[in-house]
Amino acid sequence: MPELADAGPGEPESSALPDAVDVVVIGGGVAGLVAARQLAHLGQSVLLVEERPVLGGFVARHEVAGVALDAGAESFAIRKGTVAGLATDLGLGDDIVTPDAAGAWVTWNGGTAPLPAAGVLGIPGSPLADDVRRILGWGGSLRAYLDRLMPLVRVRTETDLGDIVRRRMGQRVLDRLVTPVVAGVHSADPGVVDVHTVAPGLTQAMTTQGSLSGAVMALREQAPAGSLVQGIAGGVYRLVEALEADCRYYGVQIRTRTRAATVARAVEAGSVTDAAAPGDPDAGGTTSAADPVWRIELESAVGESESESEGEGESEGETAPQTADDASGRTITARAVLLATGFRGGLRLLGEIAPEVLPPAASWPEPASVTLATIVVDEPRLDAHPRGTGVLVGEGTPGVAAKALTHSSAKWRWLADSLPAHRHVLRLSYGRGHAVAGASGAEIAGAEASGTPASVAPEVTLATALHDAGTLLGVPLAPGSVAGFAVTPWNDSLAFATVGHKARVRLLLAGVEAVPGLEVAGAWVAGTGLAATVEQARVTASGLAAHLRGERRAPQG
Ligand SMILES: Cc1cc2nc3c(=O)[nH]c(=O)nc-3n(C[C@H](O)[C@H](O)[C@H](O)COP(=O)(O)OP(=O)(O)OC[C@H]3O[C@@H](n4cnc5c(N)ncnc54)[C@H](O)[C@@H]3O)c2cc1C
Repeated sequence: MPELADAGPGEPESSALPDAVDVVVIGGGVAGLVAARQLAHLGQSVLLVEERPVLGGFVARHEVAGVALDAGAESFAIRKGTVAGLATDLGLGDDIVTPDAAGAWVTWNGGTAPLPAAGVLGIPGSPLADDVRRILGWGGSLRAYLDRLMPLVRVRTETDLGDIVRRRMGQRVLDRLVTPVVAGVHSADPGVVDVHTVAPGLTQAMTTQGSLSGAVMALREQAPAGSLVQGIAGGVYRLVEALEADCRYYGVQIRTRTRAATVARAVEAGSVTDAAAPGDPDAGGTTSAADPVWRIELESAVGESESESEGEGESEGETAPQTADDASGRTITARAVLLATGFRGGLRLLGEIAPEVLPPAASWPEPASVTLATIVVDEPRLDAHPRGTGVLVGEGTPGVAAKALTHSSAKWRWLADSLPAHRHVLRLSYGRGHAVAGASGAEIAGAEASGTPASVAPEVTLATALHDAGTLLGVPLAPGSVAGFAVTPWNDSLAFATVGHKARVRLLLAGVEAVPGLEVAGAWVAGTGLAATVEQARVTASGLAAHLRGERRAPQG
């Protein structure tokens, strides 16, 4: 990573806000930061605005009982090495870590056991294997094995995961394995998730392998051995700090607590098409802001949209200092705008800028909301890691409200090493989406405009979290053993993975592509998770930079 000349992460901006830039990036989550960095690397002048006091979006840091921890995303998929590559570029390569090999457990109404080794989203690749039979029993395993014998009559092009699993392997596989895993990862029921989004390549592999379990084994063979995720020693939030530092080093202007209130195509700056025509050598230099065609009105967002934390431990998120140059009320002109706002802001702003790009009668699913409860506890009986790296909870498990528990200090060696003896970090998540398609884009945009969440994260008390953790780990936990507790609600948090989402996004992006100088990046179009988000943001930013240089737009892949 380059040495920082002056401004570093979290240091106030000293330079004045420019009136015009090449690109305004709206949203300072991982997508916005990656896009801003890429654009700056490619010679564009960039202003990034973020309405919250801190950058990172769903990648966030908090302190509980004096330990710095991830308050949002805490790992990333190994897929294609995208995030590891970014971390390495940012100087964090030596800090990339893999989780403990013990793996997670699953619990259902009637039992608990380690999650079978050979699976994808809980779908077993070897239905008769011992670790599968332990969960399904002989009856359930034999029913699942029928998948191998049943002819594959049809694989619909667009269908839900729950339907596929039930038809091929039976209800028990769905209830005890797939539902807990999908709820843990996507906060949704398998009956509403889009198989192409949550398990890319699965249905194609079914047609070549002739069965669902065969497809699972084929996908497993393509994946590297061992864990499918990695983390960063010290916390995934370090990626955000490093991205911010790199952005600043390359001249990106960053304004937190600053909301893009309106975005409009300016009509007086000549024809939009002329200003940004592909191949037009006069379309503008790489660093000047000639031919501005966008106007972005900024407003102060102090006190808004902050992630709330509460509890008995130190739980406040880090707050970056206010910028020296208040951007409130300013209008910035730019040659291009990249929306990296998440789906709510995206739908609202697209509805204003180019309503024609929103698919007609778009029916977006209700977003899911998640509450994370972090407990730091002193309990020697947890030293043996009784449930491996954590527990995924089957629906209807009596007496447990959480949908998943991560035994963070069992999962991450670096974290265990930073704690005193017998101290443990437990992270529970709450909020099981049962999304049904229904909310229109306009309704979601309306909720965004009025500042209310479209879905609200559940409230969680220490008593509930402690009870759930004790039940799931099989070790009752006393309030006196708690060294710290924090609750982090993430309203409207997860990107949609529901049936039809890919097709909806494809349509939307095709509309956006027809508007020169407009781009959309982020998990809501790329798919949930850092791996997909980082890749899509980088590709999108590179295409935009090429467009601004007057080159042909790079195809999106
Ligand atoms: C609790 C939780 C745990 C997760 N765990 C993992 C994990 O372990 N691994 C993994 O890979 N993924 C995980 N994810 C998903 C992953 O974090 C996200 O997919 C990814 O971070 C999304 O990044 P983004 O930049 O697209 O969106 P966001 O992080 O939502 O960023 C969008 C930003 O835009 C800002 N914004 C919105 N509107 C405006 C506006 N008008 N003006 C200015 N700013 C605006 C918002 O404040 C926000 O900061 C998790 C998500 C959650 C909620």
